[in-house]
Amino acid sequence: MNNSFEKFDVFIVGGNITGLICAIALSQNKIKVGCCDPNIDINNFNSEDTRSTAILRSGKKFLENLNIWTNLKNSCLPLDKMEIIDDNKIFKKFSLFENYIFDSQELLEKPFGWNVKNNVLKRTLVELVKKSKNIKFFSNQSFEKLLIKKQKITINLSKEKIETNFLIGADGLNSKVKQSIRVKQTLLDTRQKALSFQIEHEKSHKNISTEIYKEGGPLTFVPTKAKDKMNYSSVIWMNHSKESEKLYNLPKHEFEKQLNKRSLGIYGKLNLKSNINLWNVNTMFVENLCYKNVILVGEAAHVLPPIGAQGLNTSLKDISILMEIFQNKNKLSYQELALKYETKRLPDIKKKMFSILLLNEVVKSNSIPVMFIRRFGIEMISKLGFLRKNIMRFGLS
Ligand SMILES: Cc1cc2nc3c(=O)[nH]c(=O)nc-3n(C[C@H](O)[C@H](O)[C@H](O)COP(=O)(O)OP(=O)(O)OC[C@H]3O[C@@H](n4cnc5c(N)ncnc54)[C@H](O)[C@@H]3O)c2cc1C
Repeated sequence: MNNSFEKFDVFIVGGNITGLICAIALSQNKIKVGCCDPNIDINNFNSEDTRSTAILRSGKKFLENLNIWTNLKNSCLPLDKMEIIDDNKIFKKFSLFENYIFDSQELLEKPFGWNVKNNVLKRTLVELVKKSKNIKFFSNQSFEKLLIKKQKITINLSKEKIETNFLIGADGLNSKVKQSIRVKQTLLDTRQKALSFQIEHEKSHKNISTEIYKEGGPLTFVPTKAKDKMNYSSVIWMNHSKESEKLYNLPKHEFEKQLNKRSLGIYGKLNLKSNINLWNVNTMFVENLCYKNVILVGEAAHVLPPIGAQGLNTSLKDISILMEIFQNKNKLSYQELALKYETKRLPDIKKKMFSILLLNEVVKSNSIPVMFIRRFGIEMISKLGFLRKNIMRFGLS
């Protein structure tokens, strides 16, 4: 049998944000890391992703420890406050249209988070991967299948075979690694889609991220860096799937007209400054995070609706826990290490899943009792200091 495959300590399948950060983190512990992605060429990197990511405080600390933050901070914009506007037909009829502001100052630590464009974040990570001597990136190559034999894993990539001691699936919702290790998943269709794009607006955002709640889903504006301007934002517009598809197919001027109407004029006139991406909004959770010496991280392990900036921040938690376990590995075998990761991560992921799912159901609902509960809930949170602080802390944890 030919056994001259290239050998790695750890191999990561999927080289998007989660996979790249995971590779950088492990490589800094003198671990020989391999990573592959069929859609990424690190020597000719290009991204059309119009989303941005709000990195929360715990995420920033982690990226600082990895020295990633130094390369990123000049492209990030701090988010000091969060505004919620509850715009629904019933309350509007009675002129009960209100906004609520949550100020990070209350937690004595400013800001809530820092927003960065996804394509800037990815480019920064790709550059760091290129510089690392401990990472080998297999551009434009996909994972095909694996064979686990006596603690070693042999992997077929599309063009070659490699061998590794530990395998990480960071290959997203439809992860082939997850299928190969037969981990069961529950996929909930929210029947929503999200549009992402960038805009310029007349009035300053004043570093406030704003969510306008309405039946179908929220319209979220997140202040984004654009030279020294204070009038540039990334937008996520969630809606029932059919409505989102209709909006996506509108000509530019018609789309802008609908957007201006839905924004209630809070930023003055809005102009579209990028192309528009259409995303499925899914919720997915898994029964297990590991099998033998294989684990799942990021969107291969959990997919959350894009509200509350939890998606990537939950993935950063996966990687930071994994790093902790690796750093205290001692005599643990790779299989014991994988099990420890699952034990530490699974309960936390389930807790976060449940709360974000519930929040999404409440925000998108057009049922009259739920609309009242939503308004009452926001009112209580905004009026009761202790409740407000605890909810803000949970959102940032
Ligand atoms: C509209 C929207 C807005 C969001 N906003 C935020 C936010 O503000 N804050 C936040 O924290 N999160 C946010 N998220 C979530 C965040 O974007 C994701 O968590 C993030 O993209 C990381 O995903 P990932 O790298 O785990 O998976 P993915 O992005 O799905 O990447 C998986 C990678 O695996 C590769 N792959 C697939 N199959 C194979 C294979 N067989 N072999 C090798 N590679 C393979 C793919 O090419 C891909 O590059 C948002 C998500 C959406 C949809």
